[in-house]
Amino acid sequence: AKELGKNNYQLYEASQEFSSSEKLILEEEMRQAIANEDFKLYYQPLVDASTGAINGAEALLRWYHAERGFVSPGEFVPLAEENHLIHEIGSWVIQTVCQQLRAWMDQGLPMFPVAINVSPIQFMNEELVAFIEEQLNTYNIPAKYLKLEITEGSLLRNEKTVLDKLQRLSNLGIKIAIDDFGTGFSSLMHLKKFSPDIIKIDKGFVQSIGNEQTIDAAITSTVLHLAQELNMTVIAEGVEEHVQLDFLRDHHCEIIQGFLFSKPVPVETFEQMLADGYLK
Ligand code: C2E
Ligand code: CA
Ligand code: CA
Ligand code: CA
Repeated sequence: AKELGKNNYQLYEASQEFSSSEKLILEEEMRQAIANEDFKLYYQPLVDASTGAINGAEALLRWYHAERGFVSPGEFVPLAEENHLIHEIGSWVIQTVCQQLRAWMDQGLPMFPVAINVSPIQFMNEELVAFIEEQLNTYNIPAKYLKLEITEGSLLRNEKTVLDKLQRLSNLGIKIAIDDFGTGFSSLMHLKKFSPDIIKIDKGFVQSIGNEQTIDAAITSTVLHLAQELNMTVIAEGVEEHVQLDFLRDHHCEIIQGFLFSKPVPVETFEQMLADGYLK
């Protein structure tokens, strides 16, 4: 646990909601959930800011628990990182998305990338890249249909190891997004060192737009401007209001995600949206 260091304090804070005996119970239930396939993936559309067309999706994990109802990934992912079940759960996510992409390709649907969240502990796994490659091969999926979202926490390890991993993913043709951009330490330094393909502006900044939080709006427009200079794509997440959409459009943000368009939805609902093609 020492290696996790101070930058992972959020993981521990989040999982402190559970007592240690509760954690043991949840851990056992998590194991069963993996075996029983009680996890589900929801999909949230990513939308072209100027046309409203769906041009991507983020896969978001859901755990349906018999007594607790839906347990939020914000609660169980930190716990799964602590007890290392995140590797198994994460592999399930990767495999399930590849399987889903194959099904959509077979149905002849218009294709676009699906983003998968990879937590810092999972990103450290030495077998991650090989596993992704294996799944792409198994389901015969072009790598461009898979994107990985990592947080700045994943970049705070041995720099050479991180760079090497990013390079191997890039060689496969997989695009990397920095999630929750701007919430970590030295965000700008990370851009310089790791030059990600995509930056996801944290929803905290986006949601303050239009709420007299001029600093958050200034940060958002600055990140957008910087990304244009650096040839990176920006995705704004957490867009809930038209005033936020207008601001983002005015500042040439290309891709938008948020409840204004759609919440994360089960795959059947998502396919229905795809058939309709456009949102708002
Ligand atoms: P995240 O990667 O930052 O995902 C975005 C979160 O914002 C999702 O919460 C999504 O439902 C929510 N969101 C999207 N649009 C809006 C909006 O307009 N307003 C508001 N208020 N929220 C919005 P969710 O699904 O509860 O996931 C929470 C976190 O759990 C994710 O944050 C991610 O860090 C983690 N997570 C989810 N699925 C996975 C997974 O498969 N693997 C890993 N390792 N982590 C996951
Ligand atoms: Ca994400
Ligand atoms: Ca995020
Ligand atoms: Ca987050």
